[in-house]
Amino acid sequence: MDINGLLESLKNCPCGREHTVDIKAVEIGHGLKEKTAEILRENGFPVNILVVADKNSLGASEGILDVLRQGGISFELKLYDNFNEPLMEFVHEIEEACRGVDGILSIGTGSINDVCRKAALTCDKEFAIFATAPSMDGFASGTSPIIENGIKSTLPARQPSILIGDTAILAASPAELKSSGFGDIIGKLTALVDWRVAHVLVGEYYCEQIAELVRTALRRLISMADRVTESDEETAGFIMETLVLTGLAMKLADVSRPASGAEHMISHFWGMRKLSVGKHADYHGKKVGVATMMLVDLYHKLAELPEIGFCEDTVDWDAVYRGYGEAFVDYVKEMNIPSATENVTPESLKAAWPEICKIVKEELPSYEELLDIMERAGAATHCPQIDIEEDLAWDGLDFHTFMRHKITLSRLLYMTDVDTRALGLRF
Ligand SMILES: [Zn+2]
Ligand SMILES: [Zn+2]
Repeated sequence: MDINGLLESLKNCPCGREHTVDIKAVEIGHGLKEKTAEILRENGFPVNILVVADKNSLGASEGILDVLRQGGISFELKLYDNFNEPLMEFVHEIEEACRGVDGILSIGTGSINDVCRKAALTCDKEFAIFATAPSMDGFASGTSPIIENGIKSTLPARQPSILIGDTAILAASPAELKSSGFGDIIGKLTALVDWRVAHVLVGEYYCEQIAELVRTALRRLISMADRVTESDEETAGFIMETLVLTGLAMKLADVSRPASGAEHMISHFWGMRKLSVGKHADYHGKKVGVATMMLVDLYHKLAELPEIGFCEDTVDWDAVYRGYGEAFVDYVKEMNIPSATENVTPESLKAAWPEICKIVKEELPSYEELLDIMERAGAATHCPQIDIEEDLAWDGLDFHTFMRHKITLSRLLYMTDVDTRALGLRF
């Protein structure tokens, strides 16, 4: 990926913000496993490192340890059996293991990278990722979701300085993981709607150049939907590149808006509720994809309502607190006092509504079109496919928006007379 070219194209951006990234190199291509040591060294990565992998990710990148050895990189290996959840205890183990080294190379996708990213920051070590599956959008992230005492929180972490993806390995990863990555990227559709809505309604910062960067990647990815489940290197490489790009878009804009809106909040809400009863939630991107389908249905139906009444906020806060559970009440209060809608009045919402409806129509494909795209890409589209029962699906829709201090179109429902139960939503 041409990072310098990307930065160059955003120079003197009309949005007025200077767009920068910390990442030095993103290398995605065929046969790059063999060049791992070379890429690390070229970019000034230390030669005395800790390699963290699990049996799956190391198996997928067979031979990589020899490549490092032959490339003059000395390393210690921390090998896990299977990495399901990003637990704080793993972070502590890695912090312990990296004492005598100068950098951490994480081999894998998802939780393993999250844990290493966190440990790299607390121990102040250089950090690089060798990705084994294009399954979610957190590769370039500077934060990690970590679970401590049963609660998942997003903590500051270190953005990798180098990201490597060998398309032969990415393409050979399970179809379910690639389809999950596809679903995560589809979530940018509703993220962009929410971003523009917040901009129109309360003048929140927005950058059209970055939004267009995300839109262009989305369009190209959608054109590849039929090939997602195949072992196609070009498609797997592009999914990976788009996942990294959307992660970088958040850093470039310095807000999470270009890559994360109500669909991510629904996914996090479901994950949190599953965790509260000791269950694992399905893959991040699968949940995000299903949540996006729900929201595309909702947003179009809202935009097509012939008549709509606007009012002061009608949130039943006790119901919200019950929805999140005792352990999260303080967190929810912190996010919602003052309310994300404090600067929105029924009048200002009414005045902006025609523009909001226009944004929905401009940004979102129809529900049927999106369903077809998702099915062709092998992505989950309905709640039963990700083991979300009807009650939890509704709770996700009703309560997700209180997870962050953020205006989303779904949040504005509470300032209207719309009855979501009467919309005939499909999930
Ligand atoms: Zn800009
Ligand atoms: Zn995501």
